[in-house]
Amino acid sequence: SVAAGAPRSGRVPVTVLAGPTAVGKGTVSAAMRERYPDVWLSVSATTRAPRPGEVDGVHYSFVSDEEFTRLVETGQMLEWAIVHGRNRYGTPRGAVEQRVADGRPVLLEIDLAGARQVRETMPEALFVFLAPPDWETLVERLVGRGTEDAEERERRLATARVELAAESEFDVTIVNDTVADATDRLAALIGVAPQHV
Ligand code: 5GP
Repeated sequence: SVAAGAPRSGRVPVTVLAGPTAVGKGTVSAAMRERYPDVWLSVSATTRAPRPGEVDGVHYSFVSDEEFTRLVETGQMLEWAIVHGRNRYGTPRGAVEQRVADGRPVLLEIDLAGARQVRETMPEALFVFLAPPDWETLVERLVGRGTEDAEERERRLATARVELAAESEFDVTIVNDTVADATDRLAALIGVAPQHV
């Protein structure tokens, strides 16, 4: 298996960070990149268009539908999923294997469906569930902007309820109370120290 040959150092080779929509996975991942550059954040391939400020090859690999299909069909995706019923997102297998071989801790920030696939193919990974401090906070983050109509709001809340129930499938839960604390706890689980400045 991919992680089998790896570290000697007490660090966790592959960590999967997942959790409900709007819990703040992206924010915690960005903070990890800043504060713990020893951890390699996997660069997902996606069929969605880049947002302002997103850099191809850094935040995502932006690929066409055809290219994504080719990656899947040639076995190059460790996992992949359609997220929010729209675009496809996947973890390129080769880059992960390369970092693991180098002894560098790898972090995958992916959705729940993706996490379940990694559970099948890489059960030795550490599965971390990022949870909201409480239900009200998640509701606020989900519907916060007030731009959704009632039906869309209900759909999101129903999805969030189902997603929260997935917590029991994970090895450990981190509560996203503050980004800094959640990030430090994640780093401690992986076994990395902050970079000294
Ligand atoms: P966004 O489009 O906002 O950048 O990401 C939307 C969602 O896609 C996030 O919840 C994120 O966890 C998920 N995601 C990003 N990359 C991957 C991936 O490689 N695989 C899976 N399964 N989900 C991903």
